[in-house]
Amino acid sequence: MVAYFREMFVGLWSLVAGMAVTIRYFVRPIVTVQYPRQKLTMTPKYRGHIELIMDPETNTHRCTACGMCVRTCPSSLITVEGVKVKKKKLPVKHVIDYSYCSLCGLCVEVCPTKALKFSNEYRLAGYQRQDMVIDLMARLDAERATVGLPPLPIPTPESEEETTSAEEKA
Ligand code: SF4
Ligand code: SF4
Repeated sequence: MVAYFREMFVGLWSLVAGMAVTIRYFVRPIVTVQYPRQKLTMTPKYRGHIELIMDPETNTHRCTACGMCVRTCPSSLITVEGVKVKKKKLPVKHVIDYSYCSLCGLCVEVCPTKALKFSNEYRLAGYQRQDMVIDLMARLDAERATVGLPPLPIPTPESEEETTSAEEKA
């Protein structure tokens, strides 16, 4: 008889303890994100793929197509092509193959004009490797479009065209 009531008490106690946990979490703020309908806000130090910084004063990039990032990248995944316009070099192509990127940050560190940063992009998926090839100039144009600016004009060379590419490193 005593064993019967002890068993009943233990059963009831476990029910109350379980319900207490349920009620405690029921009144706490929800931490689950309804992905993909909800977007996460990434921390400032989050490292997504690299991208060109849009200069707030000029609303354009600060890249001078110097090729330092191309030569520094340990995975040789950056391709930059530039042309000379009025003694200045401007990029016409700035592409990365993100599938090889180790997010080491060397390209960001080495850039003499501080033209690169890590994006807060975390929703990257693709069906083929080519989907991880990211055109940084096109991304900058998309960012300009969000503030009502047209795509950057493609610079045309006034003198001999100069090209810097990842292949030069080899
Ligand atoms: S190091 Fe900077 S300025 Fe030079 S090509 Fe790369 S992004 Fe452009
Ligand atoms: S973060 Fe490192 S691996 Fe990725 S593009 Fe920059 S230098 Fe290359």
